Amino acid sequence: MSSIGEFCRYLTQSVDGLTISYQEPLSKHTSFRIGGPAAAMVFPKSLDQLQAVLQVMRQEEMKPIVLGAGTNVLAPDEGLEAVVICMRGGIMGIHRIGDTQIEAAAGETMTKVASVARDWGLSGLEFAHGIPGTIGGGVYMNAGAYGGELSQVAIQTTVLNLDGEVQVIAGSEQEFGYRKSIFSQKPWIIVKTQLDLKDASQAQIAAQMEELAKRRRMSQPLELPSAGSTFKRPAGGYAAALIEQAGLKGFQVGGAQVSTKHSGFVVNVGGATAEDVKSLMKQIQIRVMEKSGIWLEPEVKILSR
Ligand SMILES: Cc1cc2nc3c(=O)[nH]c(=O)nc-3n(C[C@H](O)[C@H](O)[C@H](O)COP(=O)(O)OP(=O)(O)OC[C@H]3O[C@@H](n4cnc5c(N)ncnc54)[C@H](O)[C@@H]3O)c2cc1C
Repeated sequence: MSSIGEFCRYLTQSVDGLTISYQEPLSKHTSFRIGGPAAAMVFPKSLDQLQAVLQVMRQEEMKPIVLGAGTNVLAPDEGLEAVVICMRGGIMGIHRIGDTQIEAAAGETMTKVASVARDWGLSGLEFAHGIPGTIGGGVYMNAGAYGGELSQVAIQTTVLNLDGEVQVIAGSEQEFGYRKSIFSQKPWIIVKTQLDLKDASQAQIAAQMEELAKRRRMSQPLELPSAGSTFKRPAGGYAAALIEQAGLKGFQVGGAQVSTKHSGFVVNVGGATAEDVKSLMKQIQIRVMEKSGIWLEPEVKILSR
């Protein structure tokens, strides 16, 4: 098959009811609001559809790019000559599967899963309530905040491999580390996760969530597009403090700025391009290295053609 267009026409015939969008602007699907068009974006609504998409892609030797809610990615200005599988809002469902365990499908947002857990009187996801990604993206990244991270509660994750086959990865096989997991090292697509929580009063859980939301609103530039913390926390320090010590608070390249509210965030103050963000990130890395001898590693995933 010679083009992505032809491939997608074949995909439409092969996978019943699949939504495909051509030349879909990635800026519509990333919290940075940056990124040119994806040649095709597919929106599987069920495990069967996702499996069928992967099987057809496998036959054609094509590798997908997976997107959750796009809150930790920087997409290229020129777009992606690829098929992007958008998981947010696709495979859905949150079920109670035991006294204190729930199963959440990858397309659900972490905030929704945490809210449902709260309504069931289950504690352990308070930290995740304000993190704007999907549960799939959260498990991939081992998302965390305020002392909590998904590794503390995710006991088992179901993935599809590139052949569309189901695999269950349990316990320590998930290899969680700081903002990484086995899932960030393998070409798998996360479809659902089991979470082990603890009984607690709804009021107590809600109060903790409100407290953390207040802290977030006070310290983070939530009013501007960003991808959260741009860099990982280096050993023995905080990226934001190092960036500030290097005199970079408010430093700007094009429309990309080191937030004046939280130096760990690069924000899009208007019309930022991926090139602006990348150039700003490089200058931050160099100036922080000169000042403190520490090389900051990006937390944001930079997508490329
Ligand atoms: C305002 C703001 C605040 C934030 N605060 C925090 C915070 O406190 N703590 C924190 O950890 N993060 C934070 N983030 C970053 C981000 O929300 C998390 O990293 C989140 O886990 C990303 O989820 P996502 O669904 O948006 O993933 P995406 O950004 O869409 O993708 C991230 C990576 O995961 C992969 N991926 C996504 N879904 C799947 C899937 N189903 N299967 C396989 N791979 C997948 C993608 O290919 C990509 O490599 C913040 C971001 C913003 C914008």
